[in-house]
Amino acid sequence: MPAKSVTPSQCTHINARGRRCRLLIARDHDSLCTQHLRQSAASQPDLEALAAELLDSTGDLTTAEEVNAFLANVVKLRARKMIDRKDAVAFGYLSQLLLWTLPGMETKLEAESDAIEAEELNRDIAEMRAHVLAKRAAKAAEVSRKSQNNSSAGPGDSSGHASSHAPSNAPTSPVPAAPQTPRDYASMRT
Ligand SMILES: [Zn+2]
Repeated sequence: MPAKSVTPSQCTHINARGRRCRLLIARDHDSLCTQHLRQSAASQPDLEALAAELLDSTGDLTTAEEVNAFLANVVKLRARKMIDRKDAVAFGYLSQLLLWTLPGMETKLEAESDAIEAEELNRDIAEMRAHVLAKRAAKAAEVSRKSQNNSSAGPGDSSGHASSHAPSNAPTSPVPAAPQTPRDYASMRT
């Protein structure tokens, strides 16, 4: 019947017997009259408390335990009809996404710690190498100094000494005594 047609300003609340409220909508609301607006507000769960319950023991949702805690909270809230089915499904889906990204995060963390270890190892090797090189340089300097002292017939005449000692095919060296050991060793083997 045309008399039953809904006017745009009529409250949209429908009671248990399927009859629509005949009151006009409240001035600051777009679908309910003041009476049903009050009822609706009273039946709405406290959103802050709901969020606190949903996020209880969930931390930053960065571990499997935290995501599982979140899922458990969703199930409990849904069982008590504190959240609607659509929200519960969405939270379940998001939890699945979070769990999928966890192995990637763990791999990333492992790679980062591996990189730090490799860096430390490289630094140790570099330090050892520097130490060995410094020791070798010191030894070479000492050998050079000794050989210069031994051949002190003429002052600073090390080039004459080196050429007299070395065979003609050997390259001349700034440190006369040092290359002799490997050369002799090599000639013994061949
Ligand atoms: Zn109403």
